[in-house]
Amino acid sequence: MLSKCANPACSAKFHYFHVGKLFRCETQSGEPHALEFGTDPTVKKSVRRVEFFWLCPECSGNMTLTFQQGTGVIAAPAVMRAIEKPRSASVS
Ligand SMILES: [Zn+2]
Repeated sequence: MLSKCANPACSAKFHYFHVGKLFRCETQSGEPHALEFGTDPTVKKSVRRVEFFWLCPECSGNMTLTFQQGTGVIAAPAVMRAIEKPRSASVS
């Protein structure tokens, strides 16, 4: 899963840890969906899984990763605040 940029629209390949931005995400398995895959219910002891996601240098500049329950990790633009600002035409 750490083979490419977490941004689905980006195809940058992951090579080194020191480039771009790494995100650590703790997910809890033990969701009801897990049973559908024929897993042993007795094994299901709220196991915490740590997953890593990577954003390439270009994407980490204007995007961030957020974790949503049920959906998982999604890449979202990190420029929301800049957009929300009222645009003043006085650029002199
Ligand atoms: Zn990218």
